[in-house]
Amino acid sequence: MIKKLDDSVRYLKGIGPGRAKLLHRLGIASVEDLLYYFPRRYEDRTNFTTISALQEGQIHTIKGKVLTAGARRSFRRRGFSIVEALVEDATGTLACVWFNQPYLKEYFKPGQYLVLYGKVDRYAGRLQMSAPEFELVSDETDSLEAGRIVPVYSLPEGMTQRYFRQIVKTCLDEYLPSLADFLPYDIRTRHALLNLAKAVINIHFPEGPQPQQEAHRRLSFEGFFLFQIPLALRKLRAKEKKGLAHRIDGELADAFIKGLPFALTASQKKVIDEIKTDMAKPQVMQRLLQGDVGSGKTVVATVAMLVAVQGGYQAAILVPTEILAKQHYDKVRLHLAGLGLRVKMGLLVSSGKPKEKEKLYQQIRQGGLDIVVGTHALLEETVAFRNLGLVVIDEQHKFGVAQRALLPQKGAHPDVLIMTATPIPRTLAITIYGDLDISVITELPAGRKPVVTKWVGPDKREWLYGFIRQQVEAGRQAYVVYPLIEESYKLDLLSAEKMYVQFKKNIFKECTVGLIHGKLKETEQDKIMTAFEEGKIQILIATTVLEVGIDVANASVMVVEHAERFGLSQLHQLRGRIGRGPYESFCVLVSGAGTPEAKARLTAMTKHSDGFAIAEEDLRIRGPGEFFGRRQHGLGELGIADPLSQMQLLREARQEAIKLIAGDPGLQEKQNAQLKEKLAQRFPEYDNLMVVG
Ligand code: ADP
Ligand code: MG
Repeated sequence: MIKKLDDSVRYLKGIGPGRAKLLHRLGIASVEDLLYYFPRRYEDRTNFTTISALQEGQIHTIKGKVLTAGARRSFRRRGFSIVEALVEDATGTLACVWFNQPYLKEYFKPGQYLVLYGKVDRYAGRLQMSAPEFELVSDETDSLEAGRIVPVYSLPEGMTQRYFRQIVKTCLDEYLPSLADFLPYDIRTRHALLNLAKAVINIHFPEGPQPQQEAHRRLSFEGFFLFQIPLALRKLRAKEKKGLAHRIDGELADAFIKGLPFALTASQKKVIDEIKTDMAKPQVMQRLLQGDVGSGKTVVATVAMLVAVQGGYQAAILVPTEILAKQHYDKVRLHLAGLGLRVKMGLLVSSGKPKEKEKLYQQIRQGGLDIVVGTHALLEETVAFRNLGLVVIDEQHKFGVAQRALLPQKGAHPDVLIMTATPIPRTLAITIYGDLDISVITELPAGRKPVVTKWVGPDKREWLYGFIRQQVEAGRQAYVVYPLIEESYKLDLLSAEKMYVQFKKNIFKECTVGLIHGKLKETEQDKIMTAFEEGKIQILIATTVLEVGIDVANASVMVVEHAERFGLSQLHQLRGRIGRGPYESFCVLVSGAGTPEAKARLTAMTKHSDGFAIAEEDLRIRGPGEFFGRRQHGLGELGIADPLSQMQLLREARQEAIKLIAGDPGLQEKQNAQLKEKLAQRFPEYDNLMVVG
């Protein structure tokens, strides 16, 4: 029978239905999954220590012979059993104990040789090993657990390292011949990469530190490479498509820029140039615009939209919330009207009245609207454009990859501008957004004062309320954000609703207090936001609906309660709501901390104000999978490859992917056949890209 890597692990020796279920929870279903379930770390057990040389508090590996062994009940704790074995080598004896595993006694027959690995401690005046890992050795040459570098895996409760090592070994023995290398030979040679079989053996059971590192390098390269190919292919396909050549010398965009109440930053000018150059070409623009919160991306997007409009095309901007849609719509429309520029704008949101929506659909279809600002409502099937020339996607991280693709499909290859306020280093951006060109706004408008950020414990609330009062009396406004809307009996958290009542009735009786959250009707949210913008509300209690986009220059205080419950990027976004005007602004994170991760996040917030630095910290704390949304981007496919620490390798893999795709886009050459199969299996959704266009 031919062994195939997609065979189920259930057919491996030693795996019954129960174990198979446990493995499934680790994401291991096939033989390949098992072979690609790499160790979390290793223990070096290559050196045996003699018993006389053992040191208290240290981890050691020893080899010795069982003198006596027995089981007994604990004197102190009822129902607690202890197995003790006395082990001897040429230099002395050592007691080893195990708790609540009475069956172990059976293993330790006097005369049996053991290799033991564990921490040495002192009990009742003598040295001992408590619950060491052990292996019975007769023939130690083929030992998985002793005298070598031993893998340690992340395993669920109820599955031992020893068991897992054994099934990986079984699997390797049986399937190694089926493990054909799908990396083209010349690429492997150029980068001095181990072949696949050798890499897989050495990632699990390294012959030494050096082979382990080489295995790691080969498997990381492979992760990057596989990930980059679909991106390279998508980029190539996009470039092949015939796109629209926009008129960049029209009047609208220039008039808009001239009429701005401020001068564009050098960085804004640069990215506007990049975008215009792209838009002028008869190819499809697929550009990512990165810029920190408050760096002025909306202005850039507006210029791009006006470029489309001045050539007779329609432009659409997709934003994640209705509040934000309304804000963009109002700002841009008023500004254009003030300049006497005739651009017809529409606002399309789900909560609109059916009749109004119907009318909007019609205007969009017939070309009666030049610019449409909208939420998810824009993505509905009923929405059709007459001649959509540019699509802007704001706050892209709030949309799925599939959603992002929907709007451009409503035009004939329109240009696409994707905006993100979670900026990441360029090399990393390439990993994820390798199919896009990238523009970066690297500076904030001049005159912005950095926000002062403080992390305080819940015991400082009195001080905090005093501080808010001070700011409000000086004419400023404040946001106070809570993680929950309503009180929950399970979680002991302050809630927006409860605090709203307290603020209004007691603490801030003399101020105007408002409450906004996602469960309110959109029209209601609108009213509250407008009141806040107009200064009629001084203190706004909120949930994270505030997170994206909102722009009120007079707000100078952002308080985040239970700050440990928010992600780092989220906190940075929230902080970005203040410091937008000429006033000194303050972000106060209230938290009794909690996990080390939460502490790391809060510390990072007080240390860094720059979005790039924050994003890097966030990546470090959460790892790329969580940071980018593992499933969204198929980042699980990176395996052990870490874009943060292996940037050089990533660059190499990316170059190779681009080169390969340029030479053989359909992967039809014989030496790429296995690679093609691999890709089809890993990224089923990208399969249609492979078809020669
Ligand atoms: P973000 O990049 O977070 O979307 P916005 O586009 O909302 O930022 O801009 C933040 C604020 O800065 C807005 O009020 C905008 O009008 C203002 N702004 C944008 N560019 C400049 C500039 N060059 N100089 C001064 N203010 C600017
Ligand atoms: Mg914005």
